[in-house]
Amino acid sequence: MPSLIDVTHPRGIYLPEADLWLDPHHGKARAFVSHAHSDHVARHGLTICSEITHQLMVVRKSVKKSGTVVTPKLREVFEWEGWELRLLPAGHITGSAMLHLTRKADGATLLYTGDYKLRQGLSAERCELMQADTLIMETTFGLPKYRFPPAENVIGQMLAFVRETLEAGGIPVLLGYSLGKAQEILCALRDAELPVMVHPSVAQITEVLTPHLGALPNWRPFNASEATGHVLVFPPGAKLELPNMRTLMLSGWALQSSAKYRYGVDVALPLSDHADHPELHETVEQVKPRRIYLVHGSTREFASELRSRGYDARALGSEDQLELNLSAH
Ligand SMILES: [Zn+2]
Repeated sequence: MPSLIDVTHPRGIYLPEADLWLDPHHGKARAFVSHAHSDHVARHGLTICSEITHQLMVVRKSVKKSGTVVTPKLREVFEWEGWELRLLPAGHITGSAMLHLTRKADGATLLYTGDYKLRQGLSAERCELMQADTLIMETTFGLPKYRFPPAENVIGQMLAFVRETLEAGGIPVLLGYSLGKAQEILCALRDAELPVMVHPSVAQITEVLTPHLGALPNWRPFNASEATGHVLVFPPGAKLELPNMRTLMLSGWALQSSAKYRYGVDVALPLSDHADHPELHETVEQVKPRRIYLVHGSTREFASELRSRGYDARALGSEDQLELNLSAH
C-alpha cells in the first residue's frame, strides 16, 4: 500500500511533494484554482484551472499578466512532473473543477473537491467523483440538520413568487451571486416566458458563460425606467430601490429560519451550490479514502462524525489545533 500524499495547512492547503497550493487566498508560486468565486484567484506564478474558470478570471480581471495559466481539459490525464493530474467536474458552478492527483512513483492518489455538490444543477456540469486514498473535502453544510429539499420544489416556489408578484403589479427581484446562482436562476426561468432584466455584473458573467448554459430566457441589462413587468436578477449586495419591488433570496442558508430577516428580504428559499450533509457522506462512501481532511464550515463536527464511523478524518485549519489539544487531555 503506497504511503499517503502529504498535506499541510500553513495558512492554506499545501501539497509539499508537488509544491502546489489548493485555492490559496494569496499569491503563490504554483496553485490549483477550483473555480472563479474568489476575487483573489490566480495571482500566482503558475495557475492550474479549467478553461471556463480561466475565462471568468480574465473577465473579472483577476489574472496576473506575468503568470502562466495551464488549463487541462476536464477528465483527461495531464502529465505534470512526477504526477498525473485530472480535473473533474465539481457541479458547484459552471467550470468548477475538483483536482485528482496520482503520484506516478507508487500510485498514491488524492482528491481535492473544492466547492462542490452532487445534485445535478441547471447551470453546472454534473459532479464526477473518483476513488482516492486521501480526500480533502469542503464541509460548508456539514451538520446533520442541513438537508436541502429537491431543487425542483424550490424552483416551483420561486416561479410562483414571480407570477404572484407580477400579477399584483409588483416587480419580483431574485437575489443570487452574480457568478453561479444568477445563472442557475436564469436557467430556471428559461421556460417561464417572462422578460428578464439583470444587474450589469450578472450580464457580464452570463455573456461569458452563455455557450455553456443551453437555452436562456430573453434577458437584457437593467434599466430602472422600464423595469415594470420584468423579473429582475440581482446580486444580494447591490443597491436597488424600486416602488412595488418584492425580493427573494436564494441561498443554502435559507434553511435557517432567521434567514429572511438576516438578509432583509421578503422571502428566502434554500437553493444551494454546495453539498448538503447526506451528500457529504455519499462522497466519502464513493471516494473510499484512507484519510480525510475537512475544510470550511463545520469541519470539527463532521470530522468527529466520520471518526465515529471508523474513518481517519481531521479538520484542517486553526480549529484542528484546538481539537487536537482538547483530545490530548
Ligand atoms: Zn464557491
